[in-house]
Amino acid sequence: MSVKCMNFLFDKQGEVLSSYKDTDIHDYSDRIGNLYFRSPNEATTFRSEHFYAMVKRHGKLELSTVIGQHVWSGYLVTLSSLSETEPSDNVLLSLRRVSGSEHKTKKDHHNVMSLSPSATYHLDLKLNTIQNVSPNIVTLLGFSQEDIFGRPDWLIQQIHPDDQVKYKEYLNTCRECLNDKFCGTEYRFCNQQGEYIWLADRARVMFDPETQKPVGLIGCLIDISEIMKLYNQLVSLTAVAPGMIYQYERVDDGQICFSYMSPQVQTLFGKTAEEIKKDTRLLFNAVHPADRKRVYRSIVKAEKGQKEWKCEFRVLNHGEVRWLYGHSVPVTKNKVRQLWSGLLIDISDKKSLEFKLKRESTTDPLTGLFNRRFFMSMLMETFEAGIKQMPVSILAIDFDHFKQINDRYGHDVGDQVLKQVASGMKQNLRKTDTLARIGGEEFSVILPATNYTDAMKIGEKLRQYVSQQLISYQDYRIQMTITIGVASSDGHLNQKDLLIRADRALYKGKSSGRNRVM
Ligand code: GH3
Ligand code: MG
Ligand code: MG
Repeated sequence: MSVKCMNFLFDKQGEVLSSYKDTDIHDYSDRIGNLYFRSPNEATTFRSEHFYAMVKRHGKLELSTVIGQHVWSGYLVTLSSLSETEPSDNVLLSLRRVSGSEHKTKKDHHNVMSLSPSATYHLDLKLNTIQNVSPNIVTLLGFSQEDIFGRPDWLIQQIHPDDQVKYKEYLNTCRECLNDKFCGTEYRFCNQQGEYIWLADRARVMFDPETQKPVGLIGCLIDISEIMKLYNQLVSLTAVAPGMIYQYERVDDGQICFSYMSPQVQTLFGKTAEEIKKDTRLLFNAVHPADRKRVYRSIVKAEKGQKEWKCEFRVLNHGEVRWLYGHSVPVTKNKVRQLWSGLLIDISDKKSLEFKLKRESTTDPLTGLFNRRFFMSMLMETFEAGIKQMPVSILAIDFDHFKQINDRYGHDVGDQVLKQVASGMKQNLRKTDTLARIGGEEFSVILPATNYTDAMKIGEKLRQYVSQQLISYQDYRIQMTITIGVASSDGHLNQKDLLIRADRALYKGKSSGRNRVM
């Protein structure tokens, strides 16, 4: 067969003005509509009127096409780019038949392309029709090119009803697009077998060179069903997780960038994942102001040491304080881009139980004051704080003849008296003092940073207060007194000696007549 080359001159409507062909091919007009077009970034097919738009944009375009059994390759140029003196809107298409080996390479390429899980298409935005699509659409969707070509709204009709609105909105965005950019969307698509598959649609908007308005999309359809299957698995797993699952990395400017955040973020922080991804400060601003520094430091420490992060902290969610437990681990060892996976759970219930138990283990149930256990640990803490230069004083308080009160009014009345007097004594002390019920009708006070003279004054104030009270309970009016033993340490006494000394002073007070401070 003697083949060689062919040249066409056509106008902007794709109308052939003149031709030269050293070949046996005659139906070139139809074929022009199916030429394979190549530019540095795209490989797709166009109708001849679109050649015009593209060649105007790029000046010269190389292309190749299959006509009959042969591959033809060549280029398109604008005549004005060939001759500066004769401006013309016409376009020259020059093609030559490639050699056998080149043909085989193209055929191999074609075969490989048919295995690709993606297909390219050209969509007319005005007519809503697919004008061209690569042959491997059959592999991808099961439909042939003939099933698809030129059928208005075919693509939309195949899209899952729940995704159609989103797709129409996407097309409208493309129609209003002002600059040459890539866009994309994802949707479920009904293939030829009637099954829905997930497609990622990535496209570039084509513009009319004269009106500069978007006229079409050159795009690529990719089957992402497997990815979506994994994604949906992740979503269903995270939905049953006891809290919020997330993944983040710290980007160059020190900001935290979340690559994943499960929807439970809204329950914990009152903000959606999208809101927080846009502005991560929302997350940190929700942390209780008193815990912010501690949380921040713990994260920095974990990141520096590449060690797991564990932290309990409070957050404010619509004015309500909730306790969260955070645990995250580094998942990549790359120090430049360190990815962290983590979990945040609401531990408010556990925390309030913990506080309740702690309170119960340190509180006397009758008076609500601290108990002996707390008093002893507090005294130890005060000494361990090492404020050696600072004096510490204690008061040992015992009710006078309390047995008689019980005997006269009954044990229950005695309890009420203890309760009311305890609360009154507390109000007569400073916030820094620790008043505790040591046992029965015996109480003690730790007076930090208080010398003996001041401790005596405080003791005297308490004694006077109690002796002036007339406790009203039921029909009774009850009066009573207390005796107080005072002891101070100026750094030379240990806590045990201090307690012994206060007890001795109390004993002295009792034996010398009661209702006094010794
Ligand atoms: P003294 O002036 O010597 O301290 O006389 P007292 O009667 O207070 O004697 P003491 O301190 O040795 O005895 C404490 C009494 O306080 C014994 C008990 O009847 C009473 N008491 C101890 N614990 C309670 C309590 O929880 N409730 C009531 N109602 N009475 C208590
Ligand atoms: Mg007693
Ligand atoms: Mg007593």
